[in-house]
Amino acid sequence: MLKGVARSTIKAAAAAVDVVRREPQGITILIYHRVGAGTGGQMDLPVDVFDAQMRWLAATQRLLTLDQALDELTAGANGPGRAGLVVTFDDGTTDWVDHALPVLEAYEVPATFYVATRFVDEQVPLPGDGTPITWKGLAELATSPLVTIGSHTHTHALLDRLPAGQVADELDRSTELLGEHLGVTVDHFCYPKALPGSPAAEAAIRERFRSATLARTRTNHPGVDPYRLSRSPIQPADAMRWFRRKAHGGLRAEDDLRRAVNRARYRGLDA
Ligand SMILES: [Zn+2]
Repeated sequence: MLKGVARSTIKAAAAAVDVVRREPQGITILIYHRVGAGTGGQMDLPVDVFDAQMRWLAATQRLLTLDQALDELTAGANGPGRAGLVVTFDDGTTDWVDHALPVLEAYEVPATFYVATRFVDEQVPLPGDGTPITWKGLAELATSPLVTIGSHTHTHALLDRLPAGQVADELDRSTELLGEHLGVTVDHFCYPKALPGSPAAEAAIRERFRSATLARTRTNHPGVDPYRLSRSPIQPADAMRWFRRKAHGGLRAEDDLRRAVNRARYRGLDA
């Protein structure tokens, strides 16, 4: 309860900051994790909330695949660019195919799914009680023309502290497994916990992928570094009120605060 009050106070304060620091129009990338998994956490959206959000996005926003967004962000002159929106998911839980895909298909919303492959391959729970999706489930997801599959490392390793020699292994195991089981080539990467990688990790990612995403609640504009794309996390507490603002890159101040907390939390932790 108290946590909920603090959360909505922070959202309201962040919305007030938006009034004086308006985010320029651009491409917003949203982060989801789970839909209808029933874990009750802030990474797990109730199906009806997700359904309402996708219905609203399909009716009001210019929805893009990640590749379409990158084409726009890497071509032409630097500047604000057109407004657009990309939906993405992280980790790899079974609700992706059970709950998220039917909603995406109902409203024809394209989405990119970043998979941490070890959890699928070994069928071990993801952090926070996440039931891993199976290769069969992922294959069903991957056959949808709306779906792009990306890498989220093999073990969900934090790439700011991993020895350089292990970085290549994390990246290559994940893309090889995805290729082997799904027949896809993997062009897009997402940093676990949205923590930027070490310089060596970043170089390894630039060699292998077309893009990489961090967090940072804000819009992306032509001229952006495609290996440091900003994404806006969506929580159940956003409901529709704050969700609409985040779809336009709003609530940046909420994210600034969250990142300060995360930096403190993950500092010095082992992967
Ligand atoms: Zn993750």
